[in-house]
Amino acid sequence: MAKNTVSTALACGLTLSLVGCVTTAPPVITTNNYNVDSKTYQATGKSERIKTIVLHYTVSDNERSIKTLTTGNVSAHYLILDKDDNKIYNLVPESERAWHAGDGGFSGRTILNDTSIGIEIVNSGIKPEYRDALKNGTLDYRPYHHYVEFDELQIKKVAQLVQDIAARYDISPKNIIGHADMAPSRKIDPGAKFPWKRLYVDYGIGAWYDEFDKQFLLNQEAFESATIPEIKQAFRQYGYQINDTDTWDEASRDVVYAFQLHFRPQQPTGNMDSETYAILQALNQKYAGKDDFY
Ligand SMILES: [Zn+2]
Repeated sequence: MAKNTVSTALACGLTLSLVGCVTTAPPVITTNNYNVDSKTYQATGKSERIKTIVLHYTVSDNERSIKTLTTGNVSAHYLILDKDDNKIYNLVPESERAWHAGDGGFSGRTILNDTSIGIEIVNSGIKPEYRDALKNGTLDYRPYHHYVEFDELQIKKVAQLVQDIAARYDISPKNIIGHADMAPSRKIDPGAKFPWKRLYVDYGIGAWYDEFDKQFLLNQEAFESATIPEIKQAFRQYGYQINDTDTWDEASRDVVYAFQLHFRPQQPTGNMDSETYAILQALNQKYAGKDDFY
């Protein structure tokens, strides 16, 4: 490289008087755009790369969570311990990808590690006394009381952090989701005890339906006449990935369960019912079609 520069400079010197000099300096990258008709033009077709916030629980204690998320093939941008240390741990810079989401998708986007911020919360998930039930295959979908409560301090930290990230990247409320929402057949975190409604009501975080709309839709009894493909289309409209079979097969019920964990956490059953459908329709009325898909 240095050799080329010298020889080019020499050639330039020798030929200067005859044909002028070809500049050897590398081009400068500029954000002052080219002037056209005495006006400068700046691109307006642009948006933030970060579109989604994905919340998780770690299913392990503070020390193991730190080790797992810093030494292996999994990580998250942020970690919230269940310890009163007044800290939120930033493990991966927001400008880099953390490996937290895996396969799945939401709101028409897949490979969510590319476009999301991942937040891990230290929490055990399922209470120890109920863990064997899943291993033995005797219980497909966990009820509310099987999940471990979150610490109040953790919720406050999550609220502060999510508010800040959502504002900086202008994230659509419905794209603040749980891991289960984007990977319903693989994941159930952050589980039924994660207080989505409280975050919406107390902090203005994420999406929630209006109770009046839900009741109105419930009274219309749309569920009774809706076909399975119609109901699945409503899930798709909101952002969930769901197959197009016309049965409630296991993968489809996993989606129903993930939705209920988020929006009807006291009764997550995996069974489609009239209240679940009314909530889904109320959410679609309020939020669907308000994404940036570019
Ligand atoms: Zn997770």
